[in-house]
Amino acid sequence: MEKHLQNPIFKVLADIAQTHQIEAYVIGGYVRDIFLNRPSKDIDIVVLGNGIDFAELVGKQLKTKVAVFKNFGTAMIKTRDLEIEFVGARKESYRADSRKPIVENGTIKDDQLRRDFTINALAISLNKDNYAQLVDPFNGINDLEQKLIRTPLDPEITFSDDPLRMMRAIRFATQLEFSIDESAINAIKKQKERISIVSKERITDELNKIILSKTPSIGFKYLFDTGLLHLVFPQMANLYGVDIINGKGHKDNFYHTLQVLDNICEATDDLWLRWAAILHDIAKPATKRFEEGHGWTFHGHEDKGARMVPQIFNQLKLPLNEKMKLVQKLVQLHLRPIVLAQEVVTDSAVRRLLFDAGEDIESLMMLCNADVTTKNEYKVKKYRNNFELVKQKLKDVEERDKLRNWQPPITGTHIMEIFGLSAGKEVGLIKNAIREAILEGDIKNSYEEALQFMLEKAKEFGLQPVKH
Ligand code: ATP
Repeated sequence: MEKHLQNPIFKVLADIAQTHQIEAYVIGGYVRDIFLNRPSKDIDIVVLGNGIDFAELVGKQLKTKVAVFKNFGTAMIKTRDLEIEFVGARKESYRADSRKPIVENGTIKDDQLRRDFTINALAISLNKDNYAQLVDPFNGINDLEQKLIRTPLDPEITFSDDPLRMMRAIRFATQLEFSIDESAINAIKKQKERISIVSKERITDELNKIILSKTPSIGFKYLFDTGLLHLVFPQMANLYGVDIINGKGHKDNFYHTLQVLDNICEATDDLWLRWAAILHDIAKPATKRFEEGHGWTFHGHEDKGARMVPQIFNQLKLPLNEKMKLVQKLVQLHLRPIVLAQEVVTDSAVRRLLFDAGEDIESLMMLCNADVTTKNEYKVKKYRNNFELVKQKLKDVEERDKLRNWQPPITGTHIMEIFGLSAGKEVGLIKNAIREAILEGDIKNSYEEALQFMLEKAKEFGLQPVKH
């Protein structure tokens, strides 16, 4: 084990522990990550006694500042490349209405017992008589090998004490691609209602960590199967299921959404594009109709979906800023490239798409590519080929017409000056007419052509330019 304690800081800590006769251990995520070969910069140290006093001794020795958090009984030291947190070993007990435990001093085993999972309860000794030895009372190493998330205590107690741990179990299972012990799953199913005492922000933190994993569908399947999803994000759980009328079914939108999400994760690490994938079909349940002779339709789900985005962001305490606007725009436009890819692609349709998507056109194309989940290889090929065509056309049209961040070649003020108008309906009508003419390709996106067109058009409205 000694090879795992290469960093010279561990010798410093061990010397101080020895000199002052204080037992100290490295514990938690840092130890777990050693065995997972994921080098980490955050070190948690547990001492038998007062964590803050120990940190002060270390601070003195290293001649660095110690940040003390008296209320939590913890202290932190930042060195050039490490963040070390110190805490005294604790024994915890809980009341039913709070995630905040009643804390007393405890042994190292008490402290390990209060940890959420066996793989997070591993400790390495920094003490002279067993330096660098692993302290693993719950067989966490075995669980690491078996790729298993298991609780040190009875899982029902663990999850009831601090229900956030249910989300953490699923988050670790997703990040590490581990499975969750069956008794822990059953305990989540039983204790799921307890999630109500956890703040929305904490829940969403865990959701975002799941979404930022390589294969987020792992986590969402666990969330759905345990019933947690129905409580923390009911709109998504609502996507589940297939209705059949006259022998005609539609695809299951929950599993389709998960596939789209996993697909987009191969193309981007961006959290908000991943949220757009989650939300792209969110209004399908609300817009679902069976039309005789036609089958299942979801007319307007993109509009309704876009309208649902702010409400969902608000409910999940996601930021109500330009990131939300991006997600909303992508949900709103997600069908457009697909429609294009199914038809003969006209220049004006491409121009309109470019105009509406603006600088988010690449993100939109990425979402649409991810949205192709049909098992029919012929269709996949056809769509992908057509997407390439659309992309090429987008490029051509963009180079020619510069529509990406379109500014009208003639402004409202300009129009008012030329015709001696004050602000009003006519100015808007003229601006619209110019924009339509450019998008339709009747005129070029240039001042000269727009001016010419406008003077002609103005005659229809009975307007004359004023002489200067
Ligand atoms: P990551 O940094 O990837 O989130 P981590 O395990 O370091 O992983 P932290 O949230 O920093 O996660 O927690 C540090 C350690 O504290 C954990 O390894 C675990 O032992 C313990 N811990 C954290 N949160 C809880 C909790 N809610 N219940 C019990 N133990 C917890």
